Amino acid sequence: MITKIPFVDLAAQYQGMAEEIDSAIMDVVERADFILGDAVQKLESSFAAYCGAAFAVGVDSGTSALHLAMEAHGIGPGDEVITTANTFIATACAITYVGAKPVLVDVDPQTYTMDPHALEEAITARTKALIPVHLYGHPADMTPIMAIAQECDLIVIEDACQAHGARINGKRVGSLGHSAAFSFYPAKNLGAFGDGGAVVTDDEEIAHRLRLLRNFGQDQKNVHLFSGHNHRLDTLQASILLAKLPQLDDWNAARRRHAQRYADLLNDLPLGLPRVAADLEHVFHLYVVTVEDRDALAAFLQERGIASGVHYPTPIHLQPAFAHLGYGEGSFPVSERLANSLLSLPMYPELEDGQIEMICGAIRDYFSMLKMGTQTQQMQPIEAHQAE
Ligand SMILES: *Cc1c(COP(=O)(O)O)cnc(C)c1O
Repeated sequence: MITKIPFVDLAAQYQGMAEEIDSAIMDVVERADFILGDAVQKLESSFAAYCGAAFAVGVDSGTSALHLAMEAHGIGPGDEVITTANTFIATACAITYVGAKPVLVDVDPQTYTMDPHALEEAITARTKALIPVHLYGHPADMTPIMAIAQECDLIVIEDACQAHGARINGKRVGSLGHSAAFSFYPAKNLGAFGDGGAVVTDDEEIAHRLRLLRNFGQDQKNVHLFSGHNHRLDTLQASILLAKLPQLDDWNAARRRHAQRYADLLNDLPLGLPRVAADLEHVFHLYVVTVEDRDALAAFLQERGIASGVHYPTPIHLQPAFAHLGYGEGSFPVSERLANSLLSLPMYPELEDGQIEMICGAIRDYFSMLKMGTQTQQMQPIEAHQAE
């Protein structure tokens, strides 16, 4: 089956700005400053300013951003770090890299982000930090989360890997917690041509530590203050991101328009549509609906050449990697229910109205087919009875 509508279309984005990107790449090739070059610093100051924060430190992935942010804040063995059961696996993995213990909480059934009440209940004497995830591009409920963190003296690291540019009351994610981790994985709202990431913070001391941590603890040439890592952002990737950054708000606006179009065309169907809490600007990294018998709808769409995805089919606590945390089935009912019913529809800035209409038309056909199916099922017993 030919895919007529892909899940994301990275080639379309490149074609829209090939000249700028090619020249940015050639600049780096000619300067040959491949490691921690000019474009890395330029991206760092531009991206920090974009987020409304003082500093950004480029690293080699979103996972490294989470990892190094925790290390910079002094989180380590014996500490508990609270995050949500419904997130990408990297959030939980990063907690283990510093030797801390992931403590999971359930998500809010409306926004799919950290439930502040569940967070309050999970805090112990060992809790050192929390990682709220701005999942799918919807900011987490940061006002109560920051109030709880302040009261309990906890560090807040935003997982903003899916939410570049999203806002709460006009303030961008990345400027809300003590530090924030961003991913520049190609399919993210701001994506490189490979792996990349950044930590954003207002704390100068943390920013300084991050610069050391990503580069072997090197303070000046051949002086290493501690055993750091090699988690630098490539200059080539930074140059591509720098060329793309001016487009980010337009791309996010296009994503929001597509989300509105989906909502208009799907709102009378038996699907759960994404909700946006008041005073928020969602950036729709993903357009996620909930539906009974999700796999059947995904298969139906696939037959029509329409790609879809599931984010995520298995909550963190039910992954083999985190079975040792001892939660088991039934621990986080909202996350578990979502895992069985979430379906992500195609979403990218270059998606066209006609494509959205085709996708929604196919979903409508699916439900009509289901309805006819139940009608024939209802008729069958009568026919069977008559045949006896
Ligand atoms: C993508 C992502 C990450 C990890 O980013 P990488 O750049 O792939 O390492 C972490 N958390 C969330 C929520 C993500 O979506």
